[in-house]
Amino acid sequence: MAENKCSSCNISDCKSKGSGDKACLDHIKNKLVILSGKGGVGKSTVAANIAIALAEKGYSVGLLDVDIHGPSIPRIMGLKGQKAKVKAPWLIPVKWAENLKVISLGFLLPDDNEAVIWRGPVKGSLIKQFIEEVAWGNLDYLVVDCPPGTGDEPLSVLQILGKDAKAVIVTTPQAVSIDDVRRSITFCEKVGNPVAGIIENMSGFICPTCGDSVDIFGSGNGENLARETGIKFLGAIPIDKAIVQSGDAGQALSNLDESHPVKKALNNIVEGL
Ligand code: ADP
Repeated sequence: MAENKCSSCNISDCKSKGSGDKACLDHIKNKLVILSGKGGVGKSTVAANIAIALAEKGYSVGLLDVDIHGPSIPRIMGLKGQKAKVKAPWLIPVKWAENLKVISLGFLLPDDNEAVIWRGPVKGSLIKQFIEEVAWGNLDYLVVDCPPGTGDEPLSVLQILGKDAKAVIVTTPQAVSIDDVRRSITFCEKVGNPVAGIIENMSGFICPTCGDSVDIFGSGNGENLARETGIKFLGAIPIDKAIVQSGDAGQALSNLDESHPVKKALNNIVEGL
Protein backbone atom coordinates (compact mmCIF):
# COMPACT_ATOMS: atom_id res chain seq x y z
CA MET A 1 0.00 0.00 0.00
CA ALA A 2 1.31 3.47 -0.87
CA GLU A 3 2.45 5.44 2.14
CA ASN A 4 -0.21 7.99 3.08
CA LYS A 5 2.06 10.99 3.47
CA CYS A 6 0.77 14.56 3.50
CA SER A 7 1.87 16.12 0.24
CA SER A 8 2.68 19.33 2.01
CA CYS A 9 4.46 18.62 5.27
CA ASN A 10 5.66 15.14 4.26
CA ILE A 11 4.67 13.81 7.67
CA SER A 12 3.08 10.34 7.52
CA ASP A 13 0.57 10.86 10.32
CA CYS A 14 -0.34 14.44 9.46
CA LYS A 15 -3.86 15.04 10.75
CA SER A 16 -5.03 17.63 8.22
CA LYS A 17 -3.57 16.37 4.91
CA GLY A 18 -4.31 19.78 3.41
CA SER A 19 -7.52 20.30 1.50
CA GLY A 20 -8.04 21.27 -2.10
CA ASP A 21 -5.19 23.53 -3.08
CA LYS A 22 -4.67 24.63 0.53
CA ALA A 23 -1.63 22.88 1.91
CA CYS A 24 -1.29 21.81 5.50
CA LEU A 25 1.31 23.77 7.43
CA ASP A 26 1.04 21.74 10.64
CA HIS A 27 4.81 21.31 10.73
CA ILE A 28 5.18 25.06 11.45
CA LYS A 29 4.16 25.96 15.02
CA ASN A 30 4.56 29.75 14.98
CA LYS A 31 4.56 32.06 11.97
CA LEU A 32 5.98 35.56 12.30
CA VAL A 33 5.70 37.89 9.33
CA ILE A 34 7.98 40.92 9.55
CA LEU A 35 6.38 43.93 7.88
CA SER A 36 7.24 47.59 7.44
CA GLY A 37 5.49 50.48 5.79
CA LYS A 38 8.73 51.81 4.31
CA GLY A 39 11.96 50.42 2.93
CA GLY A 40 15.23 51.03 4.72
CA VAL A 41 13.80 50.96 8.26
CA GLY A 42 15.80 47.86 9.18
CA LYS A 43 13.14 45.20 8.56
CA SER A 44 15.52 42.60 7.06
CA THR A 45 18.04 43.28 9.81
CA VAL A 46 15.37 42.75 12.46
CA ALA A 47 14.00 39.62 10.71
CA ALA A 48 17.48 38.05 10.49
CA ASN A 49 18.32 38.83 14.09
CA ILE A 50 14.98 37.64 15.48
CA ALA A 51 15.57 34.33 13.64
CA ILE A 52 19.10 34.07 15.06
CA ALA A 53 17.99 34.97 18.59
CA LEU A 54 15.28 32.28 18.47
CA ALA A 55 17.77 29.72 17.10
CA GLU A 56 20.24 30.65 19.85
CA LYS A 57 17.51 29.83 22.36
CA GLY A 58 17.38 26.33 20.88
CA TYR A 59 14.25 26.64 18.74
CA SER A 60 14.05 25.15 15.30
CA VAL A 61 13.72 28.15 12.98
CA GLY A 62 13.10 28.84 9.29
CA LEU A 63 13.91 32.25 7.80
CA LEU A 64 12.10 33.01 4.56
CA ASP A 65 13.11 36.01 2.47
CA VAL A 66 10.28 37.02 0.16
CA ASP A 67 11.85 40.33 -0.79
CA ILE A 68 11.96 39.16 -4.39
CA HIS A 69 13.30 42.39 -5.92
CA GLY A 70 15.93 43.02 -3.27
CA PRO A 71 16.79 39.85 -1.35
CA SER A 72 19.22 41.06 1.31
CA ILE A 73 18.97 38.13 3.75
CA PRO A 74 21.81 36.14 2.08
CA ARG A 75 24.22 39.05 2.67
CA ILE A 76 23.07 39.82 6.22
CA MET A 77 23.35 36.12 7.17
CA GLY A 78 26.76 35.67 5.49
CA LEU A 79 25.26 33.20 2.99
CA LYS A 80 25.78 35.22 -0.21
CA GLY A 81 26.86 32.97 -3.08
CA GLN A 82 25.23 29.84 -1.59
CA LYS A 83 22.79 27.93 -3.77
CA ALA A 84 19.65 26.05 -2.68
CA LYS A 85 19.52 22.46 -3.94
CA VAL A 86 16.49 20.72 -5.36
CA LYS A 87 15.61 17.21 -4.25
CA ALA A 88 12.33 16.70 -6.10
CA PRO A 89 9.72 17.63 -5.08
CA TRP A 90 11.48 19.60 -2.35
CA LEU A 91 13.65 22.68 -2.38
CA ILE A 92 16.39 22.26 0.23
CA PRO A 93 16.98 25.38 2.34
CA VAL A 94 20.48 26.65 3.07
CA LYS A 95 21.58 26.03 6.67
CA TRP A 96 22.92 28.92 8.76
CA ALA A 97 23.03 26.54 11.69
CA GLU A 98 21.64 23.05 12.24
CA ASN A 99 18.45 24.61 13.66
CA LEU A 100 18.25 27.67 11.39
CA LYS A 101 17.33 27.12 7.74
CA VAL A 102 17.11 29.95 5.24
CA ILE A 103 15.50 30.34 1.84
CA SER A 104 15.75 33.34 -0.46
CA LEU A 105 15.43 33.97 -4.17
CA GLY A 106 19.07 35.02 -3.86
CA PHE A 107 19.94 31.29 -3.52
CA LEU A 108 18.26 30.47 -6.82
CA LEU A 109 19.40 33.21 -9.18
CA PRO A 110 22.33 32.30 -11.42
CA ASP A 111 23.70 35.83 -11.08
CA ASP A 112 23.45 37.97 -7.92
CA ASN A 113 23.22 41.18 -9.93
CA GLU A 114 20.29 40.02 -12.00
CA ALA A 115 17.22 42.30 -11.75
CA VAL A 116 14.04 40.30 -11.20
CA ILE A 117 11.21 41.74 -13.30
CA TRP A 118 8.15 39.72 -12.40
CA ARG A 119 4.50 40.57 -12.07
CA GLY A 120 2.20 39.71 -9.17
CA PRO A 121 0.96 36.22 -10.16
CA VAL A 122 4.49 34.90 -10.76
CA LYS A 123 5.63 36.28 -7.42
CA GLY A 124 2.59 34.76 -5.74
CA SER A 125 3.38 31.29 -7.05
CA LEU A 126 7.03 31.59 -6.01
CA ILE A 127 5.97 32.56 -2.48
CA LYS A 128 3.58 29.58 -2.38
CA GLN A 129 6.45 27.28 -3.38
CA PHE A 130 8.75 28.88 -0.81
CA ILE A 131 6.27 28.10 1.94
CA GLU A 132 4.85 24.78 0.83
CA GLU A 133 7.60 23.10 -1.17
CA VAL A 134 10.66 23.82 0.92
CA ALA A 135 11.91 20.96 3.09
CA TRP A 136 11.59 23.02 6.26
CA GLY A 137 10.99 19.98 8.46
CA ASN A 138 9.29 20.64 11.80
CA LEU A 139 9.70 24.28 12.76
CA ASP A 140 9.04 26.05 16.04
CA TYR A 141 9.15 29.37 14.18
CA LEU A 142 8.97 30.50 10.57
CA VAL A 143 10.16 34.11 10.30
CA VAL A 144 9.21 35.79 7.01
CA ASP A 145 10.96 38.92 5.74
CA CYS A 146 8.48 40.71 3.47
CA PRO A 147 9.17 43.63 1.15
CA PRO A 148 7.93 46.99 2.47
CA GLY A 149 4.37 48.17 2.00
CA THR A 150 1.06 46.44 1.63
CA GLY A 151 1.39 45.00 -1.88
CA ASP A 152 1.25 41.59 -3.51
CA GLU A 153 3.99 39.87 -1.51
CA PRO A 154 2.78 40.47 2.08
CA LEU A 155 -0.77 39.72 0.94
CA SER A 156 0.29 36.39 -0.62
CA VAL A 157 2.33 35.48 2.46
CA LEU A 158 -0.54 36.09 4.89
CA GLN A 159 -3.10 34.37 2.68
CA ILE A 160 -0.91 31.28 2.24
CA LEU A 161 0.21 31.08 5.88
CA GLY A 162 -3.33 31.53 7.21
CA LYS A 163 -4.95 33.51 10.00
CA ASP A 164 -2.63 32.26 12.72
CA ALA A 165 0.36 34.05 11.17
CA LYS A 166 1.24 37.07 13.29
CA ALA A 167 2.65 40.32 11.93
CA VAL A 168 5.58 42.10 13.56
CA ILE A 169 5.77 45.68 12.32
CA VAL A 170 9.09 47.53 12.17
CA THR A 171 9.20 51.30 12.01
CA THR A 172 11.60 54.15 12.56
CA PRO A 173 10.50 57.01 14.80
CA GLN A 174 9.80 59.62 12.09
CA ALA A 175 6.21 60.66 11.36
CA VAL A 176 6.49 59.57 7.70
CA SER A 177 7.33 56.03 8.79
CA ILE A 178 4.66 56.01 11.52
CA ASP A 179 2.01 57.03 8.96
CA ASP A 180 2.95 53.97 6.90
CA VAL A 181 2.74 51.73 9.95
CA ARG A 182 -0.88 52.78 10.39
CA ARG A 183 -1.46 51.49 6.86
CA SER A 184 0.30 48.21 7.72
CA ILE A 185 -1.97 47.82 10.78
CA THR A 186 -5.10 48.44 8.67
CA PHE A 187 -3.77 45.95 6.12
CA CYS A 188 -3.50 43.23 8.78
CA GLU A 189 -6.99 44.05 10.06
CA LYS A 190 -8.43 43.76 6.55
CA VAL A 191 -6.67 40.46 5.84
CA GLY A 192 -7.66 39.19 9.30
CA ASN A 193 -4.22 38.53 10.80
CA PRO A 194 -3.21 39.64 14.31
CA VAL A 195 -0.30 42.02 14.93
CA ALA A 196 2.10 40.57 17.50
CA GLY A 197 3.71 43.93 18.09
CA ILE A 198 5.56 47.03 16.92
CA ILE A 199 9.35 47.51 17.01
CA GLU A 200 10.89 50.98 16.84
CA ASN A 201 14.25 50.70 15.09
CA MET A 202 16.90 53.44 14.78
CA SER A 203 15.51 54.83 18.01
CA GLY A 204 18.08 57.30 19.37
CA PHE A 205 21.85 57.19 19.08
CA ILE A 206 24.22 56.89 22.01
CA CYS A 207 27.44 58.78 21.30
CA PRO A 208 30.32 56.34 21.82
CA THR A 209 32.59 59.24 22.92
CA CYS A 210 30.48 61.18 25.42
CA GLY A 211 27.70 58.65 26.08
CA ASP A 212 24.99 61.25 25.42
CA SER A 213 21.81 60.05 23.77
CA VAL A 214 20.83 61.93 20.60
CA ASP A 215 17.42 61.32 19.02
CA ILE A 216 18.48 61.69 15.40
CA PHE A 217 15.16 60.44 14.00
CA GLY A 218 13.23 61.24 17.19
CA SER A 219 12.12 58.50 19.54
CA GLY A 220 9.00 57.23 21.24
CA ASN A 221 6.60 57.54 18.30
CA GLY A 222 6.47 53.76 17.81
CA GLU A 223 5.58 53.27 21.46
CA ASN A 224 2.97 56.05 21.31
CA LEU A 225 1.38 54.44 18.27
CA ALA A 226 1.35 51.07 20.01
CA ARG A 227 -0.42 52.60 23.01
CA GLU A 228 -2.91 54.41 20.80
CA THR A 229 -3.79 51.31 18.78
CA GLY A 230 -3.68 48.85 21.68
CA ILE A 231 -0.92 46.84 19.98
CA LYS A 232 1.97 45.50 22.04
CA PHE A 233 5.18 47.55 21.92
CA LEU A 234 7.96 44.99 21.59
CA GLY A 235 10.86 47.37 22.10
CA ALA A 236 13.24 49.93 20.64
CA ILE A 237 16.58 49.32 18.94
CA PRO A 238 19.09 52.20 18.94
CA ILE A 239 21.11 53.39 15.94
CA ASP A 240 24.45 51.62 16.22
CA LYS A 241 27.29 51.19 13.80
CA ALA A 242 27.70 47.58 14.99
CA ILE A 243 24.46 46.81 13.12
CA VAL A 244 25.77 48.24 9.85
CA GLN A 245 29.17 46.60 10.23
CA SER A 246 27.85 43.17 11.16
CA GLY A 247 25.17 43.30 8.44
CA ASP A 248 27.72 44.25 5.76
CA ALA A 249 30.14 41.60 7.02
CA GLY A 250 27.43 38.93 6.94
CA GLN A 251 27.56 38.15 10.62
CA ALA A 252 24.15 39.55 11.60
CA LEU A 253 24.53 40.30 15.32
CA SER A 254 25.49 36.81 16.36
CA ASN A 255 29.00 37.95 17.23
CA LEU A 256 27.93 40.74 19.62
CA ASP A 257 28.41 40.38 23.34
CA GLU A 258 25.17 39.70 25.26
CA SER A 259 25.72 42.94 27.23
CA HIS A 260 25.82 45.09 24.06
CA PRO A 261 22.80 47.51 24.08
CA VAL A 262 21.66 46.30 20.64
CA LYS A 263 21.87 42.63 21.62
CA LYS A 264 19.99 43.36 24.85
CA ALA A 265 17.29 45.24 22.92
CA LEU A 266 16.89 42.32 20.52
CA ASN A 267 16.74 39.73 23.28
CA ASN A 268 14.01 41.77 25.02
CA ILE A 269 12.05 41.89 21.78
CA VAL A 270 12.30 38.13 21.34
CA GLU A 271 11.21 37.59 24.94
CA GLY A 272 8.18 39.79 24.19
CA LEU A 273 7.28 37.57 21.25
P1 ADP B 1 14.93 47.18 5.18
O1 ADP B 1 14.84 45.68 5.17
O2 ADP B 1 13.85 47.81 6.00
O3 ADP B 1 15.02 47.77 3.81
P2 ADP B 1 17.63 46.79 6.16
O4 ADP B 1 17.46 45.82 7.26
O5 ADP B 1 18.15 46.29 4.85
O6 ADP B 1 16.28 47.60 5.92
O7 ADP B 1 18.56 47.95 6.72
C1 ADP B 1 18.95 49.06 5.91
C2 ADP B 1 20.31 49.56 6.38
O8 ADP B 1 20.19 50.13 7.68
C3 ADP B 1 21.35 48.43 6.51
O9 ADP B 1 22.60 48.92 6.10
C4 ADP B 1 21.37 48.13 8.01
O10 ADP B 1 22.63 47.65 8.45
C5 ADP B 1 21.10 49.51 8.59
N1 ADP B 1 20.46 49.47 9.91
C6 ADP B 1 19.33 48.81 10.26
N2 ADP B 1 19.03 49.02 11.55
C7 ADP B 1 20.00 49.83 12.05
C8 ADP B 1 20.28 50.42 13.33
N3 ADP B 1 19.47 50.21 14.39
N4 ADP B 1 21.41 51.17 13.46
C9 ADP B 1 22.22 51.38 12.42
N5 ADP B 1 22.01 50.90 11.18
C10 ADP B 1 20.92 50.13 10.99
